[in-house]
Amino acid sequence: MVHVYVGLGSNVGNRERNLFYAYDRIITIRGIKPIKLSRFYETAPVGGPPQPMFLNAVLGIETAISPFRLLENFQRIETLMGRVRTVKWGARTIDIDILLYGDKIINSDRLKIPHPLMHTRLFVLEPLVEIDPNVVHPILKKTVLQLYKELCFRD
Ligand code: AMP
Repeated sequence: MVHVYVGLGSNVGNRERNLFYAYDRIITIRGIKPIKLSRFYETAPVGGPPQPMFLNAVLGIETAISPFRLLENFQRIETLMGRVRTVKWGARTIDIDILLYGDKIINSDRLKIPHPLMHTRLFVLEPLVEIDPNVVHPILKKTVLQLYKELCFRD
């Protein structure tokens, strides 16, 4: 079993219900054991066109499902929840990202792990620090708490 951290975000419709719905779909996938769900954080959109505020959370799970199979499962949930990929970084009912998959590093077109922008985004680091401050970024070799502090206190 591998510790995996999953980022959830929504800024369309009932955001809280969307996050809980995605959470329910994820933890009912056979082979996924939920460990911890962060609280929900309201955050300003980063990049893309003007759009509503997001609600973000991070979910910690344990699984033996491969990273690519996990991505397929998550994309199926995004599609099921009516996410239409139109504008890059546009508004979305649900966004499900694989942030960390143990200490695995993957750099393919379809999947990059650790998520390439995770260490630059407070809306990822803050909930991640809440549920597991000591998890280490396998490329940067720093804990997420260190990355969070660096991002908060940079000039
Ligand atoms: P987005 O529109 O931000 O949800 O980006 C979705 C695209 O990012 C998909 O085509 C995925 O194949 C790709 N992707 C690359 N790395 C990841 C990752 N770690 N988690 C989720 N999607 C990823």
